[in-house]
Amino acid sequence: MQKNDIVRVEITDIGTSGEGIGKVDGYTLFIKDAVIGDVVEAKIMKAKKNFGYARLMNIISPSEMRIGARCPEAKRCGGCQIQEMDYNAQLEFKERKVKNNLIRLGGVPEQLLEEVMEPICGMEEPFRYRNKAQFPIGRDRDGKLTAGFYAGRTHSIIPVPELDCVLGAKENRQILRVILEYMEEFSVEPYHEESHTGLVRHVLLRKGFSTGELMVCLVINGKKLPHGEVLVERLAKIPGMTSITLNVNREKTNVIMGQEIILLYGKPFITDRIGEVKYQISPLSFYQVNPVQTEKLYATALQYAGLAGKETVWDLYCGIGTISLFLAKEARQVYGVEIIPQAIQDAKKNAALNEIQNTEFYVGKAEEVLPEYYAAYEKEHGKKAHADVIVVDPPRKGCDEALLRTIVKMQPEKVVYVSCDPATLARDVKYLRENGYEVRKAKAVDQFPHTVHVETVCLLSKLHSDQHIEVEVKMDELDLTAAESKATYEEIKKYVLEHTGLKVSNLYIAQVKQKCGIIERVNYNLPKSENSRQPKCPPEKEKAIKEALEYFRMI
Ligand code: SAH
Repeated sequence: MQKNDIVRVEITDIGTSGEGIGKVDGYTLFIKDAVIGDVVEAKIMKAKKNFGYARLMNIISPSEMRIGARCPEAKRCGGCQIQEMDYNAQLEFKERKVKNNLIRLGGVPEQLLEEVMEPICGMEEPFRYRNKAQFPIGRDRDGKLTAGFYAGRTHSIIPVPELDCVLGAKENRQILRVILEYMEEFSVEPYHEESHTGLVRHVLLRKGFSTGELMVCLVINGKKLPHGEVLVERLAKIPGMTSITLNVNREKTNVIMGQEIILLYGKPFITDRIGEVKYQISPLSFYQVNPVQTEKLYATALQYAGLAGKETVWDLYCGIGTISLFLAKEARQVYGVEIIPQAIQDAKKNAALNEIQNTEFYVGKAEEVLPEYYAAYEKEHGKKAHADVIVVDPPRKGCDEALLRTIVKMQPEKVVYVSCDPATLARDVKYLRENGYEVRKAKAVDQFPHTVHVETVCLLSKLHSDQHIEVEVKMDELDLTAAESKATYEEIKKYVLEHTGLKVSNLYIAQVKQKCGIIERVNYNLPKSENSRQPKCPPEKEKAIKEALEYFRMI
């Protein structure tokens, strides 16, 4: 396969960025904008040894899943990578992505996952779900004032069709129109990146979905809008308008927001609710962009935590405390940890706003705060710090191993892992499974329809076995566990052969041990390469191995 070759290929899979994947004589091609099920003609742009990238030239026969995008600019905008695809097919793709990762990278047995994994939670109406929109303001190719997105590396702006992004709130269009008309009327210039001139850089729009409150924040390269009162008067007429502000950003930077906020109308924040918890959101606060699905995601996390009111819970990577406050109503005490000080301030404010008194928040890295707390507690009290439930909701890179190590030392009954990246979730699940935890439930939640992103909630709970707990303490130094040391693999094999005539492998013994809650040596659990599947221990051999383990009093 060579550059510029034109090939005919059937798309059989979807890549992590939504691109189509197909094979030609065993050679894998990644083709942007091709949909699974399409047969396409593609031109090879880059050819590596085993795979290449090709450009979609022609769709020879379109996939049944190809329904056409609602937004005519979906391809160029890049915000939605899979809007072309039927929504149910999107959900299937996301669920499969989570499952494959947990099996291949997480080492979770396929059969177990089939049992514990709940169906993906999609949206009934997968449009207009975003409560936040951020548009650059500039001129299109014809020099007309507009709001939209930058095309590739150019500085001209491609307008959002009809000024109405189909993922955003329906009020956005009217708000943008009012702003652009005002700019036209009073010759207010949009910001120009290269020359660092002009005034209006971005417009940030937010809506409280449960309250109907609207926020407009104009990010400007200055401190004042000429005839700003006219704009405010017009915007204030829009039903729901609650907060109009300016954000001052005079830097030559592509960071959108500056730090200073100037209030022009109403309050400096809007209020929204997730479940029964109220949140105040200012232009600079972090807030989940799809509140409808967030509520479902966190309700699942809460359900998995299975609280009865007496528990000590940690919420690591807590952001503005959304999960912490959700959990606090059903736990004895919740500790939140988050790296961004501003977010912790918001978390405390939100706790007060909701009259929640059983939360405490710490600023810092989860992988530092928790180990330090653990060490200090042991020093002061002479015993291990305890937690009943530990919730983590890390960014894409997942949890630091130092954090996972401390979690294992604290021996919580349950770990609830909320993840925005199935690959790092799987990596961390693998660590937890190798250290005495097992996956009990998992559910993918579609927070971002039409994009390739997917969130997952996964419940892991501690395996119950006396030997196991004994082993836990020594985990740092020991590879071979106390339980394993009771009988060697050779002894188990011999016993099985003598009693049943069956031959069993180390791998099978390891699998059964794992099922029974005995910690395994890492190497037996590892698939040799990412894609290799392990053979599974057949039931009659499993039974025989269990008998041997019982004989050696290992279970
Ligand atoms: N559950 C939160 C959002 C979690 S998003 C909510 O709903 O509000 C992940 C969060 O982890 C972000 O707020 C990010 O600032 C924070 N973060 C990133 N690295 C971190 C670290 N090492 N320790 C603690 N928090 C971190």
